[in-house]
Amino acid sequence: MEDQQHRTDALVVGTGYAGAIAALRLAEAGVRTLVLERGRRWPVTAQGDTFATQRDLDGRAAWLSERSPLTDKTLDVYTGVLESLDGDGLTMIAAAGVGGASLLSNATMVEPSPALFRQAFGDVLDHTEMTTRWYREARDLIGCSPIPQDVYASEFYRSARSFAEQLDRAGIPYSLVDLAVDWDVVREEMAGRRVAAEVAGLNLFGVNSGAQRSVDVTILARAEATGRVEVRPLSVVTSVRPDGSGGYAVAYERIDERGTVLERHEVRTRTLVLAAGTLGTTRLLMRARAAGALPDLDGALGTRVGNSEVITARTGMPENNPTQGGPCAILVRDWETNPHAPVSLLNFPWVDAPAGEGWITTIGACPSPALGSFRFDEKKDDVVLSWPVDDPRVTVMAKAVQDTLDRLDAANPGSSTAFARVGTTGGNVVGGVPLGLVTGHDGQVHGHPGLYVVDSSLLHGSSGGVPPALTVAAVAARTVAGMVARVAG
Ligand SMILES: Cc1cc2nc3c(=O)[nH]c(=O)nc-3n(C[C@H](O)[C@H](O)[C@H](O)COP(=O)(O)OP(=O)(O)OC[C@H]3O[C@@H](n4cnc5c(N)ncnc54)[C@H](O)[C@@H]3O)c2cc1C
Repeated sequence: MEDQQHRTDALVVGTGYAGAIAALRLAEAGVRTLVLERGRRWPVTAQGDTFATQRDLDGRAAWLSERSPLTDKTLDVYTGVLESLDGDGLTMIAAAGVGGASLLSNATMVEPSPALFRQAFGDVLDHTEMTTRWYREARDLIGCSPIPQDVYASEFYRSARSFAEQLDRAGIPYSLVDLAVDWDVVREEMAGRRVAAEVAGLNLFGVNSGAQRSVDVTILARAEATGRVEVRPLSVVTSVRPDGSGGYAVAYERIDERGTVLERHEVRTRTLVLAAGTLGTTRLLMRARAAGALPDLDGALGTRVGNSEVITARTGMPENNPTQGGPCAILVRDWETNPHAPVSLLNFPWVDAPAGEGWITTIGACPSPALGSFRFDEKKDDVVLSWPVDDPRVTVMAKAVQDTLDRLDAANPGSSTAFARVGTTGGNVVGGVPLGLVTGHDGQVHGHPGLYVVDSSLLHGSSGGVPPALTVAAVAARTVAGMVARVAG
């Protein structure tokens, strides 16, 4: 194994929405940028077999672990797409791979209402600035649109349509939701020219047809096309520290697809951008503080963590096709009428739901209280997550979602709710490096010029009662613009 030394103008850790936006904007400003990503690339193959699917799981579903909270099966150890971190009250799932969670998310892109945005961000971010500039920019960069009528009208989306009919009868407001999906590819799936992925609801571990507009084929691909960005997959950043001359030294391990360390490297840079997600960025900063490399990080590090998810399932809709189309179509906006808390509900497919029973599953989201936290366990050399799942300020979310479902059930005789519970396995967890506390309002870490955080860890535990990806991308667009102005200016 050789130790190697490198230098780069800017270094980005992570390739999700935030890392891709950082790489693109730095490159456009003429800055040579190295991007380190722990996961592998996932190029979609013509055979449509890139990713594991819910029907046939293997090591591609989990990050270097035999276990996944999403299956009882023992998996082969592989650099798969989802890490899980068992915490107290919550098992967090975090993406791994070039593209981050954009590879495998439900692809819903939702901007919170002005009231919900203000509730989530207080004085930290200005709503008018965010909505008129950064949400727009995020939507343009990602490229998202609601399900087109011809696709929605097809047999594959019968469950979504029957859900909409039930919402109409209950008088609960909803709209078709923006999705980061290439609908022409979905049409190819419908015609049998591509493997059935979205139309079969097989999107949880990646989309084998190529219909997902993940950032590896959009924003990051644009960054790489400038010639100024190099992405190194299978490169796990293990530590960051000041290098003693105004920059940072970043240690990383190059691994193979089974996790074996092949080489150890150290890279020096004047501009270090952490975009490793809620878990990855908080982990790196807490480890650096514990090691004494960044001892003065603000006491708010690891705090203001939130999980907005409530998972529900209802049955008794006019018979749905058991193979339901996805990733989702409908956003329920029970934001002003719910007596307990504002509720968003998004339908998502239940693959091979029992035939004849008319099941529909939804992910609910409420404005999440920022009551979760990470602490650093020196023995494990890792963070430990706590989420007070029984706190009344958390359980009220399930109560609110139940209220929406009760109204749906009452207006639709024959339908009933099988369960509605606060998620104990969560991919929508945000926070840990709260903007304005650990960092300045521009994402630069207090007391550490040149060290920036731009990802989902900046949120104060909530993205306003809607799924976080679009807000994460909008906040990234804003913080990255400020950073690039400093770096290139
Ligand atoms: C399964 C799932 C489904 C989701 N569905 C939706 C949805 O439909 N709508 C929505 O709005 N939100 C959804 N989310 C949440 C949303 O996708 C995330 O909030 C958002 O993607 C976060 O973006 P990010 O850039 O901050 O981090 P991520 O997308 O998590 O990217 C972080 C990247 O950093 C890399 N990394 C981490 N640590 C290291 C390290 N030490 N060295 C090198 N690289 C590292 C990771 O491998 C990863 O690629 C979902 C999340 C998951 C997990």
